[in-house]
Amino acid sequence: SRQILLIGGRGQQVLKKASVLIVGLGGLGSPAALYLAAAGVGQLGLIDSERVEPSNLHRQVLHTTPDIGRRKIESAQERLRALNPAIELIAYFERLTSGNALEILREYDVIVDGSDNFPTRYLVNDACVLLHKPNVHGSVLGFEGQVAVFVPGGPCYRCLYEKPPPPGTIATCAEAGVFPTAAGLVGLIQANEALKLLLDMGSALRGRLLLIDTHTLSFTEVVLRRNPDCVVCGERPQITELIDYEEFCGRR
Ligand code: ZN
Repeated sequence: SRQILLIGGRGQQVLKKASVLIVGLGGLGSPAALYLAAAGVGQLGLIDSERVEPSNLHRQVLHTTPDIGRRKIESAQERLRALNPAIELIAYFERLTSGNALEILREYDVIVDGSDNFPTRYLVNDACVLLHKPNVHGSVLGFEGQVAVFVPGGPCYRCLYEKPPPPGTIATCAEAGVFPTAAGLVGLIQANEALKLLLDMGSALRGRLLLIDTHTLSFTEVVLRRNPDCVVCGERPQITELIDYEEFCGRR
């Protein structure tokens, strides 16, 4: 009732009929999934190929200590089903790849990218551009995070970062650490933006990159512009099908 006061019964029906795919059930996907389930998004897709480790628990709030060693999709489904038994959960215990991405993403209205690596980010971006799906992007490292919404028509993630950084130049979360609430904030903002996209309300974080520094608690916005020469969303796109993203990111 507290939510329907704001979005109306019609808005609640819209959410019930809506679907969101959450890529990665880690520090970003956890808060995003909890809030989207609580808000009553009717169908949540959950994709993750990993198992719960003790080092996950300070930020990956879907999973608990007894879940250590279990598939993240299992602990996530249990937690989300307990929170809202009225929604449908579709779990994929696999990595998102060029082979399965179009088939999986095609089924959802909005994609929330909570992945923690460059090959998956470029894969999600390109698949969303090819399928004309909105991509709610988030990433986090150390005390810092960033969020942006990439909608059909651009700008897209590649307009912002044309190429991935050379392998080894950017630390991973395992190397540099992650402040738990930085991940929480980014995941929550991703849920916020996904709900607004579904409800077609407010102004989304489209064409803007929000940079968050939890150490100083500062929020900075950068205006994003579509790159007319973007290889995937530009005037003459060179990427018209999914590529080998591990190779593109120099990981093999
Ligand atoms: Zn682009």
